Amino acid sequence: MYTDVSADRQVEYRKLPAVDSLLRVPAIHRLADELGVEWVTAAVRAELAAVRQSIAAGATAPAVDLWPERVRQRLEQSSLCALRPLVNATGVVIHTNLGRAPLSDAALAAVQAVSVGYSNLEYDLADGGRGSRHDHARHLLCELTGAEDAMVVNNNAAAIYLVLSALCAGSEVLLSRSQLVEIGGGFRIPDVLRQSGARLVEVGTTNRTHSDDFAQAVTAASTALLRVHSSNFKQIGFVAMPALATLATLAHQHGLLLIDDLGSGTLLETTPFGLSAEPLIQQSVAAGADLITFSGDKLLGGPQAGLILGRAGEVARLRRHPLARALRVDKLTLAALEATLLSYRRGRALQEIPVWQMIAASPEELAARARHWQATLTAQGFAAQLHPGFSTVGGGALPGETQPTTLLAIPHAAPDRAAAALRSQPVPVVCRIQQDQLLFDPRTVLPGQEGVLLQGLLAALQRTARQEEIGCSSF
Ligand SMILES: *Cc1c(COP(=O)(O)O)cnc(C)c1O
Repeated sequence: MYTDVSADRQVEYRKLPAVDSLLRVPAIHRLADELGVEWVTAAVRAELAAVRQSIAAGATAPAVDLWPERVRQRLEQSSLCALRPLVNATGVVIHTNLGRAPLSDAALAAVQAVSVGYSNLEYDLADGGRGSRHDHARHLLCELTGAEDAMVVNNNAAAIYLVLSALCAGSEVLLSRSQLVEIGGGFRIPDVLRQSGARLVEVGTTNRTHSDDFAQAVTAASTALLRVHSSNFKQIGFVAMPALATLATLAHQHGLLLIDDLGSGTLLETTPFGLSAEPLIQQSVAAGADLITFSGDKLLGGPQAGLILGRAGEVARLRRHPLARALRVDKLTLAALEATLLSYRRGRALQEIPVWQMIAASPEELAARARHWQATLTAQGFAAQLHPGFSTVGGGALPGETQPTTLLAIPHAAPDRAAAALRSQPVPVVCRIQQDQLLFDPRTVLPGQEGVLLQGLLAALQRTARQEEIGCSSF
């Protein structure tokens, strides 16, 4: 079967036990009695296949007495959900790959309360008849932002798509050449425009666009000016773009809508935390934008959602559009969103919403937490240092902006292998790797996860240290 493999690989393959003989090993046999022979047989086969792969890659066959533990670990992993919680030690607060905003306790409680049983999702408690799910977060959103009306859809991409499809299909939409943006994951504003049935009219130049550029591009077929926030890049130097209020005046003079895709958007100022200004949602409303879209799980700090604010007539048209049904959110999202918005209304967002707690964390607090981690690790005999470093907000907000932090740095001869061991823990830990160090930023590690982080770190370090001693590379 392995005719092409070298003699030393063949020696390793021959050391592999057969499935049947593994199932007769007492510890594995007990697992089969306990959990059912089919499941344990499948785990044994999967583990054998994984070991064959690592032998092909140069590893040695595991010793016989290691098999029960390996099979047990594989069973444990296969019993876990594919989507799992993890510890984000990267220092990127709104990490798109790691699920963006963690929810507040209040949001979790609201989700639990509404989903454990029935709710008035589409039921009018006053008259006992049919209600609308669109009514739930609507009034809070209007109250917090000053908007006439509001609507919630699945995410901001859906929000933009719905606005353009319902209000601009078959017409021209004017957009500055400096805002032909790709958001990430292949999501490009010009593509969404085309998909919605609107026609993109590019205005101005890459670096400078003036009011006159917009004014001269307006035709009888135009319906809207679109502004897209440059979320994930920064233009500096010889650049110009009219203020939002100027665009609003211009749009209204020509009977057009001004649509503002804020991307992240924020209800709170970012400048008190050493960051530059991110556009405030309520300022967009005040400046006269007719439709405003932003994400629920970026700086708002709530669940994944696309929030649409706007004029009553236009938002009513969005609600009636057939796509509204396809893009609608479920009760879990609405519950989490309302609870998150209530934190803002109570004036408690900085204290209650994790994203803002992380942004507002003081350098002293972060240093104290890193020192505690260092003390725990050194007490167990592992070298760990503290370095000044930087965290970022992420999530397409405030590109290039950083906040000072204290990093826990663990020097390691094989940092990639150690990081992989950390990711394979029951609760995976994701950290940064810089040269021959693993870096851990306390800013994004939730206080309730510190125990899990330290436990996982000790286990992974012990495991990789042992592998180094015996020169094994089976992981
Ligand atoms: C993030 C972002 C989007 C997409 O929002 P999702 O909620 O991820 O769908 C759209 N536009 C801008 C400007 C963004 O920053």
